[in-house]
Amino acid sequence: MPNPNPYWWEGISPYEEQPAQLPTECDVVVVGAGLTGCSAALTLARAGVDVVVADAEDPGFGASTRNGGMIGGGYRLSFEEMAERYGSEIAHRLLHESHVDSLEFAAKRICKEKIDCDYNVHGRFRGQWNSAEYDASARSLDELRKLVPVNIDMVPKEKQRREIGTDFYSGGMMLHDHGGLHPGKYQNGMLKAAVHAGARVFANTLVTSVERSGLEFAVMTRRGTIRAGSVIMATNGYTRRRFSSLKRRVIPVWSFVVATEVLEPDLVDEIMPGRRMCVETRHRHCYFRLSPNSKRLIFGGRAAMSKIRQPAATRTLHNLMSEIFPQLANKKITHSWAGQTGFTFSMMPHIGEVDGVWHALGYSGSGNAMAPYLGHKAALLMMGNKKGQTAFTQTTLETRPWYRGRSWFLPFAHNLFRLTDMKEDITRGR
Ligand SMILES: Cc1cc2nc3c(=O)[nH]c(=O)nc-3n(C[C@H](O)[C@H](O)[C@H](O)COP(=O)(O)OP(=O)(O)OC[C@H]3O[C@@H](n4cnc5c(N)ncnc54)[C@H](O)[C@@H]3O)c2cc1C
Repeated sequence: MPNPNPYWWEGISPYEEQPAQLPTECDVVVVGAGLTGCSAALTLARAGVDVVVADAEDPGFGASTRNGGMIGGGYRLSFEEMAERYGSEIAHRLLHESHVDSLEFAAKRICKEKIDCDYNVHGRFRGQWNSAEYDASARSLDELRKLVPVNIDMVPKEKQRREIGTDFYSGGMMLHDHGGLHPGKYQNGMLKAAVHAGARVFANTLVTSVERSGLEFAVMTRRGTIRAGSVIMATNGYTRRRFSSLKRRVIPVWSFVVATEVLEPDLVDEIMPGRRMCVETRHRHCYFRLSPNSKRLIFGGRAAMSKIRQPAATRTLHNLMSEIFPQLANKKITHSWAGQTGFTFSMMPHIGEVDGVWHALGYSGSGNAMAPYLGHKAALLMMGNKKGQTAFTQTTLETRPWYRGRSWFLPFAHNLFRLTDMKEDITRGR
């Protein structure tokens, strides 16, 4: 059986800087010690705010140390779709912040805080599922270039093998500014920076409720109550049902990842000649990359959208990987893990405040740049700093009458996506 813990956990040391005593009061409590929470805490602590971060598990236990380690910008919604919902000015700002500002911010924070996380601008290859999709992507890229300064090119199928050793895709899109990093080291670096700036971070401290009393909040935790002036919820896909209003707005969608055994150097060169981060456009949404030491393939995807057992997830991902790279069919899987992403109904992240409690979440599968960025923005907004302005306060965080926080519909959605992929295969002649 493969190790059920993320491959990334092997490269990091456990958190040992926890203060002995939970304080009874502070300026701000941040709920959740992932990338959002730690980044918010870092910004607050640097500004002299007395901040306490409480996580139900170890810091980084959520998606932040379980992810694929790809860092880039952009969301699936087109400019037209965003403009229809939010107006063209906000759509323009959303595009700029998601493609440019968030990535620049995360790269600067890595550099400034000296976070040693194997960050490298490898470029991201987005494999196009069929030739119709390739043409549509080329057209949308022409439009995007008019709106935002992006460094993206199309890679026709005949040139694809320079980037990735397979003919599986009908060409691709190369996002040159996107990078890769070691998520465990990235999260730990962000955590350390927050702690060294003065934030007090508590593991195994489940927050059970947040109640307003006058001008302050009573934050109830498993270890005691903290009186705080403000609260930030940074719980994304791990938001608990007891926070029902948020829970009804952030859908936890599972994503599964495996790591192969160490591969022969020739095989590594054959399958990943360009050393790119790779994703694809089909709904299966496979994503893969080499480990930072270039010895293993890390392969993720939607084996399902809800929780399934590890052997089934491992088998599905191994099959998907072997379809793309038949040379890997006999290779062993050494690690197989899963994590919860936080999707919104709008498919866009959101930052906001309800009755004095702030939240930054809903990264919809792409948070390595956006989570630290919006954590930072939430901290600035809370302090009344104009630099906190962001178009992500304008996105919507709606719910649906049929969603009470239990994701009963995800298995149906998964099957629907699979059918859509199959239909595309037939109608578009793959
Ligand atoms: C398998 C997988 C692959 C991914 N791949 C990529 C990728 O390659 N690139 C990319 O950009 N993004 C990727 N993502 C998304 C990215 O990891 C997330 O968007 C990002 O990590 C979110 O960070 P966060 O701090 O908001 O949430 P999390 O890291 O999920 O942290 C939330 C924390 O809140 C805590 N918590 C919840 N409720 C409470 C409570 N009541 N009290 C106390 N603590 C609480 C949890 O314990 C958890 O630690 C992936 C996600 C997954 C799961």
